[in-house]
Amino acid sequence: MRIHVDMDLCQSHGQCAFAAPEVFSFDGDDNLVHAETAGESLRDALERAAAACPVRAIRIDGPAHEAATGEPVA
Ligand code: SF4
Repeated sequence: MRIHVDMDLCQSHGQCAFAAPEVFSFDGDDNLVHAETAGESLRDALERAAAACPVRAIRIDGPAHEAATGEPVA
């Protein structure tokens, strides 16, 4: 899975870091930092993080997501 965060939207609320601390964290200046990719084992945590983000800044791309939307799986 690929993880995208729209940093123009992100307001550093931090809910994502609670939901998926393996992926999201904050640097010393309270800016969000995150992994670019994650394995399928983190899908549930990432979906919780995306749902918890109050500004909907998190997008997850990957084969299972594409299958769920009916688009062809690469
Ligand atoms: S929950 Fe959303 S707004 Fe808050 S830090 Fe994460 S991506 Fe940014």
